[in-house]
Amino acid sequence: MSSKKEILVTGGAGYIGSHTVVELIEAGYTPIILDDFRNSQKWIIDRIEDLTGNSIQVHEVDCCDEVAVEEVFNLYPNISGVIHFAADKAVGESVQNPLKYYSNNLSSLTVILKAMDNHDIKTLVFSSSCTVYGEPEKIPVTESTPIKEATSPYGDTKIISERIIKAEVDANKSLNAILLRYFNPIGAHPSGKIGELPQGIPNNLVPYITQTAKGIREELTVFGNDYDTVDGTNVRDYIHVVDLAKAHVAALDYANNQNEYSCEAFNIGTGKGSSVLEIVHAFEKVNNLKLNYKIGPRRSGDVVAIYAEVDKAKKALNWSSELDIDTALKDSWNWESNGIHNED
Ligand code: UDP
Repeated sequence: MSSKKEILVTGGAGYIGSHTVVELIEAGYTPIILDDFRNSQKWIIDRIEDLTGNSIQVHEVDCCDEVAVEEVFNLYPNISGVIHFAADKAVGESVQNPLKYYSNNLSSLTVILKAMDNHDIKTLVFSSSCTVYGEPEKIPVTESTPIKEATSPYGDTKIISERIIKAEVDANKSLNAILLRYFNPIGAHPSGKIGELPQGIPNNLVPYITQTAKGIREELTVFGNDYDTVDGTNVRDYIHVVDLAKAHVAALDYANNQNEYSCEAFNIGTGKGSSVLEIVHAFEKVNNLKLNYKIGPRRSGDVVAIYAEVDKAKKALNWSSELDIDTALKDSWNWESNGIHNED
């Protein structure tokens, strides 16, 4: 059956990519990883192999390198779909260095789309983000909530990427593209073997929390408590990375079964909002520890509150999140506190 063939996973050694590779294998797919390890570690591949008992084909290639990408596609004539994760993702860095973001994130996408076209590959799952909704007027956001002007070059690359994919689907009327708009991924694989590996000081809330609990950081700063929300802190939709990974498998299955060409966006969240302080307190409770934190000023560019309406994914993809925040926060701490990733 065509749906169980090889899937090319760009950025497959990254945080969401590595968890997705595990879920693909569990679902009977054969993932092929294309990653240049600029923001990931090679030993993550060993961990995936250890976890799944499968050996993985890996190609150390920059997705912007058209020739090298084409060579990889040539090696695998049976690729039935592509999941494109490879991208730079640090919002703050994108403000400092916009050309890096526009260049890497957009070139890699066009290179992948061209290779897919050359090889007649019809299924694409793309990593988009709820950042495309900006500061929404109404929450929860649905897939038809208006796309807003981006507040960072990173966010802009996601909006432009969605547009590039839609244009390609319209022009090349045989492509089925799924745009997965991720909310906030947290957690780690329950085995503790793979998880998030932030470079330097984490920008994201949960890795900052776990590093503070471990003593790597002195104190978490909660960025503002005077927003118009339940307790004054920002609200986000935090989703377990394993649930998010499973959404990619569901998206592939769905896209493979489409006869017509299409480009569809799906919100991938839990449908539930949590404030920063709710996350802090849940982390303390489930892991039975006290976290050093203080309230600080707002962080510029933060949206006040956003969470997903998830009905579309539930109905069309037959997917919804299963793991709760407590589980995610336990798994994040299990990953961080075991420290096995620091010893490699
Ligand atoms: N946040 C915080 N302290 C930190 C990091 C994040 O208070 O050290 C808050 C941030 O202001 C936001 C939420 O945690 O309200 C989620 O931030 P993150 O950067 O993880 O995700 P995003 O901003 O992309 O939603």
